[in-house]
Amino acid sequence: METKDQLEEYRSKRNFGRTKEPSGADSSQGSWQGTQPQFVIQKHKASTLHYDFRLEVGGVLKSWAVPKGPSTNPREKRLAMPTEDHPLDYITFEGTIPEKEYGAGTVLVWDTGGYRNLKDKPIAQAIDEGQAEIWLEGEKLQGGYALVRTGKGKDVRWLLIKMNDEKADARRDPVSTEPASVTSGRTIEEIEADEGDDS
Ligand code: MN
Repeated sequence: METKDQLEEYRSKRNFGRTKEPSGADSSQGSWQGTQPQFVIQKHKASTLHYDFRLEVGGVLKSWAVPKGPSTNPREKRLAMPTEDHPLDYITFEGTIPEKEYGAGTVLVWDTGGYRNLKDKPIAQAIDEGQAEIWLEGEKLQGGYALVRTGKGKDVRWLLIKMNDEKADARRDPVSTEPASVTSGRTIEEIEADEGDDS
């Protein structure tokens, strides 16, 4: 596995003596191996609120920061900025990152579940080519989503777009109406209150 090299940037940004985020040391024995690949969307109240969209690909979590969060409306293209690969065990991470640490703030597991690659090629290749399509089987989000890279040079950006299938629903707005964690039931404020005073 190339996991160690893939996580070099992730580790270089963090002091694991201070943050409770996983170091990824155990990623090669991830409990998800042999099952359907997983995704997670983590609501992250940092210096600016955003949603981190992560896909299990080749032993790590490929990651994008989505400022407005995902939409269920195919007409809403959501900006998705690539961020560093994260270790597999980050999928279940929920809690606070101490002040002055990278990503300082509060993380909530907003949605998680399995996903299927909808393309006729490996998902890693589809991401490399900037044209991925996946079917999410989350609690809040289901159905096809496209991750599309557009622009060139300094203008490169990614878009996260709901595909037009039976799970598309322009009337839903789960980012607003379903804010709580799917694993703990807590809101960002409740996680802050539970954990914010022990760092
Ligand atoms: Mn983040």
